[in-house]
Amino acid sequence: MDTNITIIGAGVIGLAIAAELSKNNEGVFVLEKNLKPGQETSSRNSEVIHSGIYYPKGSLKARLCVEGKRILYDYCNLNHIDYNKCGKLIVSNSDDEGLILQDILDRAKMNGAEDGMIIEKDAIIELEPHIRAERALYFPSTGIIDTHGLIKQLEADAANRGVEMVYGSEVTNIQKIENGYQITVSEQDGAGFSFSTEYLINCAGLYAENISKMAGIKNPAYSIYYWKGEYFSLANGKHKLVSRLVYPVPNKNTEGLGIHTTIDLTGRVKLGPNAVFMENNELDYSLDKSHSKEFYQSAKKYLPFLDEDDLVPDQVGIRPKLQKPGDDIRDFVINEESDSGFPGFVNLIGMESPGLTACLSIAKYVGEIIS
Ligand SMILES: Cc1cc2nc3c(=O)[nH]c(=O)nc-3n(C[C@H](O)[C@H](O)[C@H](O)COP(=O)(O)OP(=O)(O)OC[C@H]3O[C@@H](n4cnc5c(N)ncnc54)[C@H](O)[C@@H]3O)c2cc1C
Repeated sequence: MDTNITIIGAGVIGLAIAAELSKNNEGVFVLEKNLKPGQETSSRNSEVIHSGIYYPKGSLKARLCVEGKRILYDYCNLNHIDYNKCGKLIVSNSDDEGLILQDILDRAKMNGAEDGMIIEKDAIIELEPHIRAERALYFPSTGIIDTHGLIKQLEADAANRGVEMVYGSEVTNIQKIENGYQITVSEQDGAGFSFSTEYLINCAGLYAENISKMAGIKNPAYSIYYWKGEYFSLANGKHKLVSRLVYPVPNKNTEGLGIHTTIDLTGRVKLGPNAVFMENNELDYSLDKSHSKEFYQSAKKYLPFLDEDDLVPDQVGIRPKLQKPGDDIRDFVINEESDSGFPGFVNLIGMESPGLTACLSIAKYVGEIIS
């Protein structure tokens, strides 16, 4: 074999896996079609270090998020990556919503997210004097992270441990061979190369289903559906009126977490993301300005100071979900494919939120799979 381990995709998950596996393995290789790491979903998200509140007990999302949050804060401290443990409030304004808060708190505790507490109006006003809420569920240890700092650090850790990262190189064919895989790569300048690898780890994000199919793995449970997430930021000085992540009580029928406020490390406050199903899985990062009305109406319920003209179009990200509208929630797929006849091929599919929070624990999990 030309190399031991090949990772397709240099988003946060591919890079975290490269940094982890290179601790105990030589010959680790990362292929990325873009010229720089982290140009896709990893830089088009809310940058929230989630607590692991909503996911079903025992799911990979729950386990890897709770563990991932803890080790991500440690990693940030060790490597001086900026973060703000600003805390998160899930706010309720009716008796029915208030009851749902208790359910969310119970599930959070079952998942090991221990710091949640229900607080009443007086305590909410002390934390966030400008929002409207009768009751809230408060998670003080939820935070936000400098994603670009994280990407740079993971890339540096991997490179320092001997990982070879090749940018501008798109995997265009995968052939199963004896004891491994033959990979064909097209470079952006029109050149290309081919090599063999024993292990192949598919971290291709929005393209992970294609990569799996390219190798010959045709599992209908791996179908990815694109869901756009649009954001509007707050203008007219209104960003100064919120300093934590503020979420509505999630509606059972919504595919995201409801229109919420996210803050970033520069103090910018964004509303979003919404969840727009994209019929044809097209890579379309355009934002529909007419959605600002729906954002305004949702957020006005708990941000009474909001005026319609405070909303300015901001970023767009696309979630690689394993469910289409109406389907049950699906867990991450992290699977070594020996059972399908593809030993040494590890698929990571449907790596939507909380994939950023969980990137380091996902990397440890993959390390255990192939050790
Ligand atoms: C709107 C939105 C909000 C989110 N908010 C949060 C949040 O607040 N907190 C959180 O924890 N998570 C959040 N997430 C989820 C998080 O962003 C993702 O889980 C994470 O970024 C996925 O990382 P990745 O490395 O799997 O994917 P990506 O970043 O998409 O990386 C995949 C890489 O594979 C490369 N690639 C694809 N095909 C090929 C090929 N053929 N050859 C070579 N390279 C290839 C791509 O170019 C890309 O760079 C959010 C996601 C979205 C969309």
